[in-house]
Amino acid sequence: MHEPMKIPAHVQRCMERLESAGFAVYAVGGCVRDALLGLEPADYDLCTSARPEQTETVFSDCRLILAGEKHGTVAVVTEAGIVEITTFRTEGGYSDNRHPEWVNYVSGVEDDLARRDFTVNAMAYSPRRGFVDPFGGREDLKNRVLRCVGCPETRFREDSLRILRGARFAVKYGLTPESATMDAMVALRGLMDNLARERVFEELCKLLPLASAADLIRFAPLLAAVIPELAPMIGFDQHSPHHAFDLFTHTAHVCAAVPPDLTLRWAGLLHDTGKIPTFTRDETGRGHFYGHAKESAALADGILRRLRAPTRLREDVVELIGLHMTKFEPEKKAIRRWLGRLGSEKLEKLLLLQQADMGSKGTGKPGEAEQFARLRACAAEVEAEETCLSLKDLAVNGGDLIALGFTPGPEIGRCLQALLNRVLDERTPNDRDALLEQARKWLSDTDHSQSEAGFLSSAD
Ligand code: ATP
Ligand code: MG
Repeated sequence: MHEPMKIPAHVQRCMERLESAGFAVYAVGGCVRDALLGLEPADYDLCTSARPEQTETVFSDCRLILAGEKHGTVAVVTEAGIVEITTFRTEGGYSDNRHPEWVNYVSGVEDDLARRDFTVNAMAYSPRRGFVDPFGGREDLKNRVLRCVGCPETRFREDSLRILRGARFAVKYGLTPESATMDAMVALRGLMDNLARERVFEELCKLLPLASAADLIRFAPLLAAVIPELAPMIGFDQHSPHHAFDLFTHTAHVCAAVPPDLTLRWAGLLHDTGKIPTFTRDETGRGHFYGHAKESAALADGILRRLRAPTRLREDVVELIGLHMTKFEPEKKAIRRWLGRLGSEKLEKLLLLQQADMGSKGTGKPGEAEQFARLRACAAEVEAEETCLSLKDLAVNGGDLIALGFTPGPEIGRCLQALLNRVLDERTPNDRDALLEQARKWLSDTDHSQSEAGFLSSAD
């Protein structure tokens, strides 16, 4: 590096301390890569010749976190943030595919760099000792090349998560995998079956918000290796006059067209998975996918459970996908109900997903922007009215109903929902006395089909 890398003062102070005690220390990995690209590194990792217990001695007056000590890492808590300091090491044996089984301390920084996955991640820098780049990471970065350190096949066999990491770095930094690296990524993608599912999920969550449609298409075989439901979508001809793209190409465009929000990106990626099992062709040869939204939602639920996605994310994605074919009309009564059911944030996400879907058919038709603008305007109008949109806004609650003589139990919920529906439909004002009167009617009426009809006929 001709220009010294800028290292924040609190990190430099840690480096100085170790050097003063006679140890070599370097900034290493992601921070060097990011600095060379002119990006602000997210954090600064240090590697050193000091053994963990020696590092502890050097920083004995500081607060330390020793959770990673077994793997050679001591974290120093400084006023400006945590600095992780790891002893030069090699590692191996990833039988649980998550943690190395053994680490060996080594004496030189080059040996430590050799265990790292890609050349662009295998550089070190020290203000005192200069730049260490034994695998040509700087040159690869300049040429936008992703290349394994050492033999790609060996490296992916050691830890197959590197295959997805490679795709992520390529996407994030606009790198092209050189041919031996790419060939091994594709050839060995099946090894990712053995990875801990949460590790795969985590990696996909880092990749999806960054990916363009072209990225998703170039790495489609890798995505399909970890989400097999995507495999039959690649190249699948929809036999539809509305779609110029094959199913995966359409999917890639939708996924990339929604904002980089995890719920939306997952929904975009999985929204049409149900088209494969629901595909039929009519006598004219045209393709149909009756009920595919529901089928896609069920598949997405299974996929996200398998990947151990957080419940909240899974449920939101499944709900968006299940509703992605809903036809909305810019009509206040209907929109009020949808707002009551989904809340404004989720309704907006649904509209974003639908808009991306409409605009990603490859037919050159605009994505019906006007219709969506009308829907949003209508939703904004309803929201501005500050009307009651959900049970918590209702002027009566369960306690009020019990006071009226309701038996505690599920009937209270049913009655409250029916009351909410009356309010949403403007049949009853959101007024305590008016609602209590309706509730009294409910009590005296043993057949609630009338009162509940409004709820059951809600636009789903
Ligand atoms: P970012 O944190 O921005 O995602 P990073 O490069 O810092 O990127 P980390 O996962 O934090 O990535 O890992 C830090 C460094 O450790 C990497 O730069 C790489 O040198 C090395 N590394 C991490 N995971 C692996 C792995 N599975 N195989 C080999 N080396 C790895
Ligand atoms: Mg990092």
